[in-house]
Amino acid sequence: MSDTQGRGSTSPLPGGDTFPPPTALAEAANVGADAYERAAADRLGFWADAARRLEWAQQWDEVLDWSNPPFAKWFVGGKLNVAVNCVDRHVAAGHGEQVAYHWVGEPGDTRTITYAQLQDAVCQAANALTSLGVQAGDRVAVYLPMIPEAVVTMLACARIGAVHMVVFGGFSSDALASRITDADAKVVVTADGGYRRGAPSALKPAVDEALTKLGDAVRSVLVVRRTGGDVEWTEGRDVWWHELVDAQPTTHAAQAFDAEHPLYIMYTSGTTAKPKGILHTSGGYLTQVAWSHHAVFDLKPDTDVYWTAADVGWVTGHSYIVYGPLANRATSVMYEGTPETPHRGRWWEIVQEYGVTVLYTAPTTIRTFMKWGDDVPAGFDLSSLRLLGSVGEPINPEAWLWYHANIGGGRCPVVDTWWQTETGGHMITPLPGVTATKPGSAQVPLPGISARVVDEAGEPIEPGATGYLVLTEPWPSMLRTIWGDDDRYVDTYWSRYGKTVYFAGDGAKLDEDGDIWLLGRVDDVMNVSGHRISTTEVESALVSHPTVAEAAVVGATDATTGQGIVAFVILRGNAVDSGDELVAELRQHVRKEIGPIASPRQIMVVAELPKTRSGKIMRRLLRDVAENRELGDVTTLTDSSVMDLIGAKLPGTP
Ligand code: ATP
Ligand code: MG
Repeated sequence: MSDTQGRGSTSPLPGGDTFPPPTALAEAANVGADAYERAAADRLGFWADAARRLEWAQQWDEVLDWSNPPFAKWFVGGKLNVAVNCVDRHVAAGHGEQVAYHWVGEPGDTRTITYAQLQDAVCQAANALTSLGVQAGDRVAVYLPMIPEAVVTMLACARIGAVHMVVFGGFSSDALASRITDADAKVVVTADGGYRRGAPSALKPAVDEALTKLGDAVRSVLVVRRTGGDVEWTEGRDVWWHELVDAQPTTHAAQAFDAEHPLYIMYTSGTTAKPKGILHTSGGYLTQVAWSHHAVFDLKPDTDVYWTAADVGWVTGHSYIVYGPLANRATSVMYEGTPETPHRGRWWEIVQEYGVTVLYTAPTTIRTFMKWGDDVPAGFDLSSLRLLGSVGEPINPEAWLWYHANIGGGRCPVVDTWWQTETGGHMITPLPGVTATKPGSAQVPLPGISARVVDEAGEPIEPGATGYLVLTEPWPSMLRTIWGDDDRYVDTYWSRYGKTVYFAGDGAKLDEDGDIWLLGRVDDVMNVSGHRISTTEVESALVSHPTVAEAAVVGATDATTGQGIVAFVILRGNAVDSGDELVAELRQHVRKEIGPIASPRQIMVVAELPKTRSGKIMRRLLRDVAENRELGDVTTLTDSSVMDLIGAKLPGTP
């Protein structure tokens, strides 16, 4: 990190230049600076106010029970139905005709779903699941493409108190099988297939294969017809959605569940180790995702068109495609496919067509757009946009500025939201009407959230120094445990600094203004000749070179320096790979940006990087390559052939 080099070395804005909130947005913002004061004076009172934005069937007796840390209970004694909060109450309030989702299929087919239609569909699916024997507390595996039935299934589970466990449609049958086993799911909801990169991509065969390995653990498979492709059929187990669900009544009497009733299990993306089944519950989770969606995206239900361009199989999809937006009565866009299908302007065409006002996506996608060139978005009318968000990894200043200028037209605040599967909702982020944004920094904890950067001993660090990010108070949407493994829950998150301090696993530094800069996972910090250097900082330096679109950096064991820096770079669309000359230039560039110690031992130009479906670079696999090891668990990779291409590039031992 910064043992040897100056602060903010990767910031292109020396002197801490920032972008103040646009005046009109600030004046009309849902949440102003007073929220910080209110939460600082009475944190639990602040969260109780946030919970009152929801409809409770029974009021809680106590906001937080933290008597047995790290096992928290929020809104103790309260009862609510999550699906009713997301759908029925809006219909009851006269908004049934409002569009909940403008859904866009990859081949160009579209569906418009109002809140009233969503209510009918959720009731039918709830009745269907009940007819399959699903009861409150049972787990339902969901393995679907980005189609409305994914949202409907999640809400139907919530409605009957079943626990959904969504697995990315792109994961292999092995990944699916291990998650079904871990969660002990009895029912799987899937589709014949979905569309990706311009072609139907089958899903059902992966389910069939997974279930072959699992004996008769799974009772029923509910299958949505999406592509119309041929499917193998197991009589007595497989049921078509259109036959079972469509025949159900569109009414369903929803029962209220305890605030701590389990809502879902979501496996983390597995960038560092075996995926963990993160358990989220009902009242606190919905409170925080709804409030943060309202505050951070300044969501105006009557006028905004909101788009989280992510997959529902990722926690971002759960919190900010489904639960947060619906709880706030948002009109959302949902897109099935990939950004380059059928052309590289597909997203911008969607923004133009639907008048999208708020767009939320990941830095990896933003860098891909940078690689494709400025002229692609320039060909569309993006003037409806008023706010942009980023999530998933640190956004390097170069990409932030590109997003701000080329997508946001220089007028939209960019909110860089730090959070995790485990935190359930946003934790550290600017507020668009309050915070002067700073490219590359997630900046400040939200009102009601207590975050710190500490050293090895748990002491707060000085500005300029680097340390570990911790959360010092429980928060409503926190994970409650790792499914079936309380010990791993305690060990992973609550043991390093005691049972009341959450160890996030991310490195961070504080600048002179007290703003937090995330530096990536602690496991991704390299040690070169005794200097701790963050992969994020070296990657940011590489990406700030005009030829580089994307970079992944790992530390590989080195006999002399402990670890040596190995960089994998993807070039921008118009850049020429001049071989050794380019490598020398990039090395020189990193020396200048950070310092000689950070200069990579090896730089390889590659066409693709190994990523999870949520767009995160799997550095541990690159480390395996750089150290000539057999690859670790690749089940969460989008496309495992990427690793063969990269392996072939590597010239033996470095
Ligand atoms: P695993 O824990 O299984 O290795 P994962 O951490 O990638 O997987 P997620 O919960 O999806 O799974 O990702 C959370 C992590 O993503 C954070 O811990 C952080 O490292 C990174 N992250 C997310 N948003 C941001 C952000 N805005 N800035 C910096 N880092 C971010
Ligand atoms: Mg993680």
